[in-house]
Amino acid sequence: MKCRNCQKENPESAKICVFCGKPLYDTPPAFHPPKDEEEVVLKKEEQPSPAPQPKRSKTPMIVAIVLGALIVLGLAFAVIFGLRYSQQMDQKDEQIQDLLEENDQAWESLQEEREARQDAEEKAQEEDPWEEEDPWEDPMPFDPGTYVANYNMVLRDGPDYGANRTGSLKKDQSVVIESVHEGASDSYWGKTSSGSFVCIQDPDYTYLRKSE
Ligand SMILES: [Zn+2]
Repeated sequence: MKCRNCQKENPESAKICVFCGKPLYDTPPAFHPPKDEEEVVLKKEEQPSPAPQPKRSKTPMIVAIVLGALIVLGLAFAVIFGLRYSQQMDQKDEQIQDLLEENDQAWESLQEEREARQDAEEKAQEEDPWEEEDPWEDPMPFDPGTYVANYNMVLRDGPDYGANRTGSLKKDQSVVIESVHEGASDSYWGKTSSGSFVCIQDPDYTYLRKSE
């Protein structure tokens, strides 16, 4: 340690200059391990400097006003578009309702047409119950034409063995069959020009043969 008075070098442990007797320190040196000193220095450095007083600026105010205006505008647009959307939806609902009504009307008229047709069919059937022919059924195994009787036959007023007798047909007599009808239990009947029916064939016999 150099003396501040006489500039001479003193031993490290001396507190007073061994040459001139002046104190080597203003205050006796306090013993601090260097580590602690470092920590103190660090702590001092770590302490945050007091935050600088924020400058009073008008920018945040302007930003707030602009944001507020944007929000108000956004809300206004949302309301306007919401109203228009709901109006459009109402219009669409009305259109759908109209379409449904039209649909109902079309359906009703279709139903009416169908009923009318059914009525007409029923009426036609009532008028001639034996004229009914289902186009989807198997085609008749017999064609209209001239037939010859294999046996003495009975003419009836329907394609059924229980139908009323209307006349007869002798064996080998020929008869013109205008249409062929299916009777009960796999029997086929020919309708003559006079409107009578004669059995052409049943599971047991073939009564009429086609004329050559
Ligand atoms: Zn000295």
